[in-house]
Amino acid sequence: MAERVIAGVLPRVRAMKAYTPGEQPSGGELVKLNTNENPYPPSPAVAEAVRAASNGSSLRLYPQPASDDVRAAAAAAWQRPIDGVLIGNGSDELLVMLTRACLEPGQTVAWLSPTYSLYRTMADAVGARVVELPVQREADHSRALLDEDLAKGNPRLIFVCRPNSPWGETVDLDELGRLCRSTDALVVADEAYIDFSHADSALEILDQNQNLVVLRTLSKAFSLAGVRIGIAFASPDLVVELDKLRDSYNVSRLNAAAAVAALQDMDYLRANCDRVMASRRRVIERLGAVGWQPWASDANFFWLPCPGDDGRAVYSRLADAGVLVRWFDSPQLSGGVRVTVGTDEQMDLLVQCLGNFS
Ligand code: PMP
Repeated sequence: MAERVIAGVLPRVRAMKAYTPGEQPSGGELVKLNTNENPYPPSPAVAEAVRAASNGSSLRLYPQPASDDVRAAAAAAWQRPIDGVLIGNGSDELLVMLTRACLEPGQTVAWLSPTYSLYRTMADAVGARVVELPVQREADHSRALLDEDLAKGNPRLIFVCRPNSPWGETVDLDELGRLCRSTDALVVADEAYIDFSHADSALEILDQNQNLVVLRTLSKAFSLAGVRIGIAFASPDLVVELDKLRDSYNVSRLNAAAAVAALQDMDYLRANCDRVMASRRRVIERLGAVGWQPWASDANFFWLPCPGDDGRAVYSRLADAGVLVRWFDSPQLSGGVRVTVGTDEQMDLLVQCLGNFS
C-alpha cells in the first residue's frame, strides 16, 4: 500500500536522507547547547513591535510580498542598496532558492567538508553532483584555507560557510575573493555566525564580485531563531532572478515587525555578541584547564574532540546531566561534539560535568 502511495514521488527524493535538525525538546529543563541558539533574549524593541503589529485587525491582511520594510531595515543596518537585498523565511529558504536557481540534475555543487549538512539535503533534492573537499584547518586554529580545486569540475554553485559549522573556522577573505574571480559559479558566503567573529564579512568584497552572494540570519546573533528571517545580499540583477523562486508572502507580518525592530537596534546586537564571545573565550580556557582540548572558534559554538574518539559517550553523559550538545553520526564527526556557547552559568555547569568525566 505504502509503495503505491509514494509511487509518484521522484526516485531521487525517495532515495535521499532527510535533513536531521538538532533536537528541540519540549520541556524547558535541559541546558540546551545543541542548535546554536543565542542564550540571551532579543532586543526589547522586538516584543513591543510584535505587540503593536498584532493590535487591531492588521493580521487580516497579507504581509508585504517581498518584505520591503525588512529589506529597507537590513539595507540600512549594513549600508547596502535595498535592491541588492532579499529576505527569506530563515536563511534556509534562501539556500533552497539558490539551489533551485542554479542546479539541474547532474550539475555540480561544491563545498568544503565538514560543513552545514543542509547543503547536502538540498543538493540531493535537485539531483546535483556534489564535490566535497576537506577543510584545511589546524585543530587549534580558527583560520581556514580554501582548496583551489573547489572551482574545478565546473561547479555552478559553491557554498562557503564562514565561520563554518561544526568546527568554527573561517575561510580567509582574500581567498574567498580569489575563488570568486576564478570561477563562473555563484559563490555563496553563508555568514550565519559572522557576528561572533573578528573576521571581516564577505560584504566587504561584494561590490567587486558579481557572482558572490552573502547570507545572514537573525537566528543567531539577533536571538531570533524562532522568528525565521534570513537575508541575502547580492547584485540587484541576481536578486531579481532569485526572487522568482521565493514563496509568496514568505515572511509573516509578525515576523517582519520583529525583524525590523531587531535590525534597528544594532547596538543591542553588538553587546549581545560581545557577551557570547567573552563566554566562548572563558569556557575554552576553563575546559583546557581540566584536560580537554576544545578547538578555537569564530562562532557561537566550539568543537570538542572527545576521549577515545567517542563523541556519543560524551553526548550521552552530558544528556544524563541535563546538558544537551550536538553529536553527529558521521565518520568525520562522530569523534567529537559541537557545543553552543551559552551563558557563563551554563558554561560553568558544562565544565563541571566534563571535569568529572572519566
Ligand atoms: N547556515 C548555517 C551555517 C546554519 O548553521 C544555519 C542554522 N542551522 C543556517 C544557515 C540556517 O539558519 P536560519 O535559521 O536562518 O534558517
